[in-house]
Amino acid sequence: MLAAIIQKPEVLEICEVPRPVVEDGEALIRVFYTGVCGTDVHLLHGHHATATFPLIPGHEMVGELVEVKGQEAGAFQSGQRVVAQEVLSCGRCTACAKGEDNVCQSLQIIGIHAEGSFAEYVKVPAKKMLVVPDAIDDQLAAMTEPLAVAVHDVRLSGLKVGETVLVIGGGPIGMLIAIVARAAGAKQVVISEIKKFRRDFAASMGFDVIDPTIADFDEKLTELSGCEGFDVSFEVAGVKSAISTCIDHTKCTGTVMVIAITKEPIPVDTGKIFSKELTLKGARIHNFYSFKGALELLQMKSVADDVRKLISKVYRFSDIVEAFDYAEHGEDGFKVLVRINE
Ligand SMILES: [Zn+2]
Ligand SMILES: [Zn+2]
Repeated sequence: MLAAIIQKPEVLEICEVPRPVVEDGEALIRVFYTGVCGTDVHLLHGHHATATFPLIPGHEMVGELVEVKGQEAGAFQSGQRVVAQEVLSCGRCTACAKGEDNVCQSLQIIGIHAEGSFAEYVKVPAKKMLVVPDAIDDQLAAMTEPLAVAVHDVRLSGLKVGETVLVIGGGPIGMLIAIVARAAGAKQVVISEIKKFRRDFAASMGFDVIDPTIADFDEKLTELSGCEGFDVSFEVAGVKSAISTCIDHTKCTGTVMVIAITKEPIPVDTGKIFSKELTLKGARIHNFYSFKGALELLQMKSVADDVRKLISKVYRFSDIVEAFDYAEHGEDGFKVLVRINE
């Protein structure tokens, strides 16, 4: 089969490699689309702490089921359209026992520690696979994984109907969080984003926006929140100023969600967490429950319409280097998909 391989940092090429061999409990998917994630770009630059090369990246996949082996085989039929959660978990540690497979003690991730889906075929655990309902087309189904991140983040935040939300960072994940928060009943969602294109886009989707570089940013944000602060804030930017903004602008007893992967440890003002009784909470990838939730949420028309707008470009597999470059440097895009098989 053909697969895109990161041979070493900065070298991505399409090569002929053996098709994965499926063992008991595994399934083989013939990939239709794979989305380019920020993680894939980090991998290409050699910035991922635990990845080793050569490596086939890709974890935002949709395709057709070719083969399943073992117990789960009865639950599927070959030819079904499927998506799969990229989380490889042990099933035995405390986190796994609680259903929190995303924080498994020996967590491995498809496309980072195992062969990914920028390939004609990808192997996944059968129990992490879901059949895509007919109403969800292939491109939309390829958005299941990034949407699952947002579903997980919003669920963990404990957001309630009628509450207000601040999202710092209006990239693909920030936008998906805003979309899910709105679907979950948020009264108001404010997105703070540096890039004008992204602010304009978010505003066109009905979200309130703010430019964090303006001189009176804090005053404007206070005004937008009706002076009390937001019920829940999501830090998706991964910079020091963003976490301070979240802590400053979350109302008493509110929740600050830490979503971004940061390059260095970020100090926080524990005095403010104390005095406002804030909850500071991390959310990593998604558990299988949130992954399933994302596929279910895509059946809601308003969410599907919003999510579809985030698909900016679709590249042919042969143009994968260009796709990665656009995902990183494109000034007018959100999500990039790569068409692997027709
Ligand atoms: Zn991703
Ligand atoms: Zn585990």
